[in-house]
Amino acid sequence: MRRLSWSIATVVDTRWETATARTLVLEVPGWAGHLPGQHLDLRLTADDGYRAQRSYSIASAPLGPRVEITVQRAEGGEVSPYLVDVVTIGDRLELRGPVGGWFAWDATDPGPVLLVGGGSGVVPLMAMLRTHRAVGSGAPFRLVYSVRSPDELMYAAELDDLRADADIDLVFTREAPPDHHRPAGRITLSDLGTAPSLRPTVYVCGPTGFVEAAAAMLVTLGHDERAIRTERYGGGRA
Ligand SMILES: Cc1cc2nc3c(=O)[nH]c(=O)nc-3n(C[C@H](O)[C@H](O)[C@H](O)COP(=O)(O)OP(=O)(O)OC[C@H]3O[C@@H](n4cnc5c(N)ncnc54)[C@H](O)[C@@H]3O)c2cc1C
Repeated sequence: MRRLSWSIATVVDTRWETATARTLVLEVPGWAGHLPGQHLDLRLTADDGYRAQRSYSIASAPLGPRVEITVQRAEGGEVSPYLVDVVTIGDRLELRGPVGGWFAWDATDPGPVLLVGGGSGVVPLMAMLRTHRAVGSGAPFRLVYSVRSPDELMYAAELDDLRADADIDLVFTREAPPDHHRPAGRITLSDLGTAPSLRPTVYVCGPTGFVEAAAAMLVTLGHDERAIRTERYGGGRA
């Protein structure tokens, strides 16, 4: 297996996705490209040599020299508040990647795909949706995105635009917009759909509790366990 080495990336742009989540656009010299769904490892070193390392999914389609990540601030966290609130354009960050191969979509696969994301777990699914559009894939795509409230919805305008290529369903767990088709509440079997006659490959990503609950519901609905790929971010439930 190839051993990944650390390299220095430069922050070339940033974008707020919500009041608590920010996208960092990184230029990584010699970046060999990635698959939609993969992540990278980022390492911060303090002046006294103390190091903290975290993983972040790649949000961008693998079609250019730049790599984007979207970081949700975890209150009291060691790394994410720094990435969301402190890092600015021109800063240099140490990273390695891309990491992971199982939780990745093959853009040449015409088969149907179901994406299920909780909170910031939507990030690698966004890389898949962006790639799906960029390559003009005809694969049927559906996203079910569970988020606490409209304020925490990442990529809202872009998701609206992507509705032309994919079915996109939003589940608000704490507070829903008044005109939303379902009341606020945790994701249910009916949010995930009916029996899987199309046999999609399923990608589930988010906090560990969310991923476990969603994967169990998908099995109850009749999805083949081998077709369900999961990525757990740690933490609680979205
Ligand atoms: C493969 C992978 C990909 C990831 N991709 C992303 C991504 O694209 N965007 C993103 O924002 N995060 C992502 N994460 C989570 C990220 O790695 C960190 O765990 C997160 O940023 C918190 O780090 P921290 O140092 O701020 O908090 P820490 O100092 O590690 O923890 C502080 C507090 O937050 C809680 N906490 C830690 N992680 C989470 C979490 N994920 N959800 C809720 N509470 C948590 C802890 O229990 C603790 O109470 C990913 C994780 C993995 C394993």
